Amino acid sequence: MKAEFKEVPVPPRWCMVCRGEIPPERVLRHSGTCSDECSAQHKRDMMNVKAGKICRLCRRPFRRPRRVTIEEASTPLPDGCVTGTQGGSETTATAKNA
Ligand SMILES: [Zn+2]
Ligand SMILES: [Zn+2]
Repeated sequence: MKAEFKEVPVPPRWCMVCRGEIPPERVLRHSGTCSDECSAQHKRDMMNVKAGKICRLCRRPFRRPRRVTIEEASTPLPDGCVTGTQGGSETTATAKNA
């Protein structure tokens, strides 16, 4: 009776890009992504993060909403993006034609 070699006690890790489970052999290589595709995507993401183009937390591109209508705003940004909209300036939603 032998212990199977394939049963390497690798703690489960999750892909930084697609949130999928990373295969054990990639975990052992200290890869933070599940596939070469995700690895390439991650590199692109990190470049964009450093350039301040996308959110570091959710990896969504920052969008400065100028005049967002109710319909467009119906898709709320995740918590990570809240910092992009915090400026202390209230939205002038009450501005109307008097
Ligand atoms: Zn992945
Ligand atoms: Zn975000």
